[in-house]
Amino acid sequence: MSQFWSQVVHTLTPYVPGEQPKLQNLVKLNTNENPYGPSPKVIAALQREAADTLRLYPDPNSSHLKAAIAEYHGLQANQVFVGNGSDEVLAHVFQALLKHELPLLYPDITYSFYPVYCGLYGIQYQTVPLNASFEIAIDDYLRPNGGIIFPNPNAPTGIPLALSEIERLLQANTQSVVVVDEAYVDFGTESAVSLIAQYPHLLVTHTYSKSRSLAGLRVGYAVGNALLIEALMRVKDSFNSYPIDRFAEAGAIAALEDEAYFQQTRQQVIATRSILVAELQDMGFEVLPSGANFIFARHPAHAGEQLASGLREQAIIVRHFKKPARIADFLRITVGDEMQNQALITAIRSII
Ligand SMILES: *Cc1c(COP(=O)(O)O)cnc(C)c1O
Repeated sequence: MSQFWSQVVHTLTPYVPGEQPKLQNLVKLNTNENPYGPSPKVIAALQREAADTLRLYPDPNSSHLKAAIAEYHGLQANQVFVGNGSDEVLAHVFQALLKHELPLLYPDITYSFYPVYCGLYGIQYQTVPLNASFEIAIDDYLRPNGGIIFPNPNAPTGIPLALSEIERLLQANTQSVVVVDEAYVDFGTESAVSLIAQYPHLLVTHTYSKSRSLAGLRVGYAVGNALLIEALMRVKDSFNSYPIDRFAEAGAIAALEDEAYFQQTRQQVIATRSILVAELQDMGFEVLPSGANFIFARHPAHAGEQLASGLREQAIIVRHFKKPARIADFLRITVGDEMQNQALITAIRSII
């Protein structure tokens, strides 16, 4: 009964994740999961972990995983923070680094979890409109603020922002933290991790859910200056000592170790993406340039909502956002494997 609820709960508008339907045999292109499955070395590591040691708590500091991530990026372990999916990492980032007197800035069209965290933690924010080409325009962020966050490539547009633009922002905006959410960076976007040594106010977040094909394992991380990481550790250790369980740590380390599998699968996604883009353009779609494992596209003669429901009737699910109006005719389509891709193209041809 709601009179038992804490005050804040009445004000929350929770995030709604893409649907995870129980039906079999769907072509599921709605939540940007990886079509190829995790590395076989990850599966082997998880099997080794299914052992008597599960009665013991995991390492609260996840030090093996942090060391592996630090080595992968050429950083120190105290520049790495790990969490139960990057959504949890982002939640701690909002609470630990982005709640200030001045408003947090993020794009008007972006990852829809950001306003949810602001609501949860009582963070003031202002949205900054994307330009007419749906791009993040750095000059529009050059005003007093309590922090800046955006995904690169942006979601759901998929459009990448050049590293030189991010560096320009870091040079002009030195009084607040700039967070770059690189959930999709491995699909052909330049990473800002290389700027961490020079810019103590830069934090970059990554996830294992997309390019490492481990959405079900729940591992994400942030890298940045050790002082930023300390703030995240303080919040984490006031919240949950063990966000990374034994499976998650072992699986995430094994995934990082299988560089060949990672390169092969991400290149496959990038290659399938170009085929998909060409086919859609051929059918008259406008497709925004994508540096991600999804594309954002609209057809001049067919409303987004109708296309999405037409696809659903053929057991293909994609993501459609009713709001804001500027993107209401776009579909966000995850790049699947070649068979899923063909099924999608055939279905769209039959609809239009
Ligand atoms: C998928 C996604 C995340 C979160 O991924 P996790 O599965 O929680 O690691 C974060 N940011 C963006 C922009 C995403 O699309």
